[in-house]
Amino acid sequence: MGARTNEPKDFPQHLDLVVVKGVRAVDPSRELDAIVDVVVERGRITRIGADAAPEDYLKSEQACVIDGQGRWLLPAFVDLHAHFREPGQEYKEEISSGLRAAAAGGFGHVCCMANTKPINDTRAVTELMVARAREHGGTRLHPIAAITKGQRGEELTEMADLRDAGAVGVSDDGVCVMSSVVMRRALEYARTFDMPVIQHCEDHGLTGGAQMHEGAVATKLGLRGWPRVAEDIIVARDLLLAEATGARYHVAHVSTEGAVRLIREAKSRGIHVTAEVTPHHLMLTDEAVVGYRTYCKVNPPLREARDVAALRAALADGTIDAIATDHAPHSPLEKECEMESASPGMVGLELVVPVLLELVRTGELPLARFVDALTRSPASIVALDAPRLAEGVRAEFTLIDPEVEHVVSAASLRSKSKNSPFLDRAYRGRVELTMLGDEFAFRGAAAFARGESR
Ligand SMILES: [Zn+2]
Repeated sequence: MGARTNEPKDFPQHLDLVVVKGVRAVDPSRELDAIVDVVVERGRITRIGADAAPEDYLKSEQACVIDGQGRWLLPAFVDLHAHFREPGQEYKEEISSGLRAAAAGGFGHVCCMANTKPINDTRAVTELMVARAREHGGTRLHPIAAITKGQRGEELTEMADLRDAGAVGVSDDGVCVMSSVVMRRALEYARTFDMPVIQHCEDHGLTGGAQMHEGAVATKLGLRGWPRVAEDIIVARDLLLAEATGARYHVAHVSTEGAVRLIREAKSRGIHVTAEVTPHHLMLTDEAVVGYRTYCKVNPPLREARDVAALRAALADGTIDAIATDHAPHSPLEKECEMESASPGMVGLELVVPVLLELVRTGELPLARFVDALTRSPASIVALDAPRLAEGVRAEFTLIDPEVEHVVSAASLRSKSKNSPFLDRAYRGRVELTMLGDEFAFRGAAAFARGESR
């Protein structure tokens, strides 16, 4: 009963006509959740609706027809938080490999953090990142520039210049802006261009030498702990500064119950705060570190079950606005070593769908909220036009098979680095195709595997 699937033999780089037939299209920004046909002509969505694809389109030899039965079509995702290691550490990730990983994960837009080498605190680095990404095509890259020069927490960067060069926000991610004076000035300055200030919330005085979350597991393992309060104290201070300045403040990778409570209260009082959470903080606890698993060393660290519960509830009710990957590629050199010397972080762009669909299936995270937290919501935080499933807009969407069972392995990742504790596990659901404009930025082996014989 599936629609005819037609993949042109000589796969053209630019596709004039693509039809996704009978697919469940979900775009909460327009309250869309229906079985429809979606027609893309020269990179734009021209028709969406039940049986909207004309017969002659479906029969056309030029048409690329995709069987949507049993699949979901979602707006392409927007990631607020990724670390591509170019310039400076291309052995971990290049802009091109990062963008390929992003497309394979369903992402149409990725915001890249400033802790490159050199640090993205000047127009030259921002421009280089934008230029490299344009050369590559596919997923679009949006730099997030540093708040302070050299991420030293002292002198502010030339934010106006950085914004003109393409930066969509500022962050010293990896380190926290510890000085209240500097943070206040940063918020005041960024406010004049309506740019969000994104904080990595960590009171470094409280986390010196920390390897993991401070708690019973750390004690058992004999590792120095990173207490929740080190995050909460910065969130609390910054919310007061955000209130005083009226600036747009964004909390990166929220990990504690306390930070959730503070953000919820601040939102209820109308403070301009937004927040993101990572898939690993939603799915793992500090128990995952048992066995000295360096692949589970992240910053902020994996917390406890009660934090995970608070994060899930906050994402579901919108207190936490967005899902962000904190994609942090590292080579075996930085990971296959002692806990103390291991670099924190894990790759994430290609794991969002397999890892998080479990929460959607159990009903803990409604599908519409899952999609919103990966599309409209993050886009609005950095003032990008969100990908949408609507007639007349540029085609930016991802096709998902929510039921297919598969194993994610290191070999299947496009990312240059393979550091993730989520590998070699069975999952249900994956990205099969990502279309951006008139091109398939990612096309999995199964995207066209359904023939008439099926
Ligand atoms: Zn961070």
